[in-house]
Amino acid sequence: MSKKSLKKMAKVAGFMLLLMATCVAIAAATTKCRYCGYTSYGSCSNSPHGKHEHVDTSERCEFCGYTSYGNCSYSPSGKHRHGHGDGKCIWCGYKTTGGNCSYSPHGKHEL
Ligand SMILES: [Zn+2]
Ligand SMILES: [Zn+2]
Ligand SMILES: [Zn+2]
Repeated sequence: MSKKSLKKMAKVAGFMLLLMATCVAIAAATTKCRYCGYTSYGSCSNSPHGKHEHVDTSERCEFCGYTSYGNCSYSPSGKHRHGHGDGKCIWCGYKTTGGNCSYSPHGKHEL
């Protein structure tokens, strides 16, 4: 392989990386607070519970955007709460129809 084509490949790879990084950045900022429309998380003056609440999928917490479960510093209940969908509990992500949930603030799985 010639030096020239190597250089070209490196350039293409760099561009692809940039494109991917841009896509990730856009994907992470697509959800908005349902009360004020802001894309940030934390204190919200329009929200009844004082925190921005995003409309999100079951993949992410509606109060902070994290994909994990458990303690959440942005959540009014203190726990990550994910969006509804796929028959999964919004507090722990467990696929269930009911029963006790150790992550839920009220102790029950919630779909
Ligand atoms: Zn808000
Ligand atoms: Zn959270
Ligand atoms: Zn649960």
